[in-house]
Amino acid sequence: MTTPLLSIEGLTVGYGTRDGVVNAVRGVDLTLARGEKLGVAGESGSGKSTLALALLRLLPPTATVTGRVLLDGEDVLEMGWGRLRAVRWAGASIIFQGAMHSLNPVQTIGDQIAEPILRHQKVSRDAAATRVRELLGQVGMLPDRARSYPHELSGGQRQRVMIAMALACEPDLVIADEPTTALDVMVQAQILTLIDGLVASRGISLLMISHDLSVLSDVCDRLAVMYAGRVVEVGPASDVFRAARHPYGAALAGAFPTVGDPAARMRPQGLPGDPPDPQDLPSGCAFHPRCAVRLDHCDSVDPVLWPAGADNHTAACVRVLPDEGRSLTADPAPVEEATR
Ligand code: ADP
Ligand code: MG
Repeated sequence: MTTPLLSIEGLTVGYGTRDGVVNAVRGVDLTLARGEKLGVAGESGSGKSTLALALLRLLPPTATVTGRVLLDGEDVLEMGWGRLRAVRWAGASIIFQGAMHSLNPVQTIGDQIAEPILRHQKVSRDAAATRVRELLGQVGMLPDRARSYPHELSGGQRQRVMIAMALACEPDLVIADEPTTALDVMVQAQILTLIDGLVASRGISLLMISHDLSVLSDVCDRLAVMYAGRVVEVGPASDVFRAARHPYGAALAGAFPTVGDPAARMRPQGLPGDPPDPQDLPSGCAFHPRCAVRLDHCDSVDPVLWPAGADNHTAACVRVLPDEGRSLTADPAPVEEATR
């Protein structure tokens, strides 16, 4: 097997606050192959942005991170600052939600796109300006827009500028955190199609975050569903979207399995309640208080990701665990001491 471009191993992030530690990401393992598009879905507060920021060490100083983030085999969490600066943009770049706040209002967008090019590639100002015009064309804008200021652009155009910036240094990985959430529906679709096409034609890997599983399933090869700081389901996009094996994944996909009703196996239904407070997580499976198909022991078993049907599809639900995970509730078997 070839080394994945990105390998996230046992990643945890806790934010230190006056009221204690907020465990925003709790042990995430994910891999992304070269050229692959991985979607990460989950309601607000599930830890998606924290995960994205941790990948490039963009978290505030109050955050404590453990685990490994291997980018092309090199641990981002262990890099010196010089190396990290080079990797941001040239190795991996981020498109944030809400471009409005990420762009400098008093600098032309041409200068802003040129900045990472001048910083990371040894090119002249003229060559950088040419590259900026090229990039603007590629994101569907007139090259002369380089002279515009952010306030002269629409929301969709500003997000196109962010995409141009993310591509400016030809990274291997683009991380897009809710890149279209602030835009109206028509523009959302255009921007997603644009990102999809640009990364595909360059063989760039994409990690795209959204609360909307259907949006992600259109663009991505694989989907990961996050709940309360964990990945609770991951697999091929079409399997996770059409045949989610975790009740939370199913709820996000807009359909909910109805127990004991095989005829109407999937029926749309809203999800009750809100995601839990990371400082006060329910016992057992963190999703159990909202789960319509919970079993009695779901408040005492914290399920691990387990093979669930199709290739590389896993889900952390007792319903896919052997013996419905009951063996995990039992007292651990006494360990016999080796006699020799
Ligand atoms: P998502 O992007 O899925 O909405 P986030 O990663 O933004 O989730 O947040 C995960 C959890 O971490 C939430 O409970 C949020 O309130 C908390 N959180 C995010 N940023 C901070 C911070 N800087 N300090 C303390 N808690 C934070
Ligand atoms: Mg977020």
